[in-house]
Amino acid sequence: MVSKILPFGEEGRRKAFSLLLDVLYPPRCPLCGEAMPVGQKIHPECIGKIQRITGHRCAKCGKPTDPGERLCSDCAETPHRFNAGFGAFVYDGVIRDAILAMKFRGKKEYADMLGLLTAREAEAFLRMNHTQYLIPVPMHRKKKRMRGFNQAEVLAVRIGQYTGIPVLKDVLVRTRGTAAMKALDTGERRKNLSGAFRVNGRSPIAGKSLCLIDDIYTTGATADACAEACFAAGAARVVIVTVGTGDDR
Ligand SMILES: [Zn+2]
Ligand SMILES: [Zn+2]
Repeated sequence: MVSKILPFGEEGRRKAFSLLLDVLYPPRCPLCGEAMPVGQKIHPECIGKIQRITGHRCAKCGKPTDPGERLCSDCAETPHRFNAGFGAFVYDGVIRDAILAMKFRGKKEYADMLGLLTAREAEAFLRMNHTQYLIPVPMHRKKKRMRGFNQAEVLAVRIGQYTGIPVLKDVLVRTRGTAAMKALDTGERRKNLSGAFRVNGRSPIAGKSLCLIDDIYTTGATADACAEACFAAGAARVVIVTVGTGDDR
């Protein structure tokens, strides 16, 4: 029955493959930005440089941990509001470069590629959590206007196409900008973020299992603030999937 709700499997894979061809169409390698020889979409050696997380993960946020450690040092210290987290890759190397290019050099097409790579890694996690809706972590409208797109939204759309899970845009909104956040310490950051999100009144999330989508997971402060807003609107379960995640070891 689960397969009816979440149409993973062969069809999803075929769709994703044709989509992969589409999104990789630009004749530059989306991982290193170098021009590609005709007929090639992405350098196999660049794909090979992506650091997949295959070992132990923190039981709460999904960061890589040492064997025998149930929680990462951060989760051992800070109780989180969200139920569980999963980062597809370590935020490092080619993945870090691609995320930075997507955010700060306007490479929207990189979000397509990163979304697909993330969907493949996160498929089992989403299924395990019986995710009913994907919700992109919202950007303040002023910031979105400046950047032209919200990368979390593009990622969520790609992950939705791959998994068949519907995406709810504009349900969770950011009411406060966080321009000066970089200067704040963790505690101040948390305080500043708490209450920075709200759920639009007539949203269908009550009683549902949700997955937030974002580009990077660091301290979980953003995920907690978003989860808080979703729970206040009646969500039953809130997990988070990101492209990159920290490795604090
Ligand atoms: Zn390359
Ligand atoms: Zn953790």
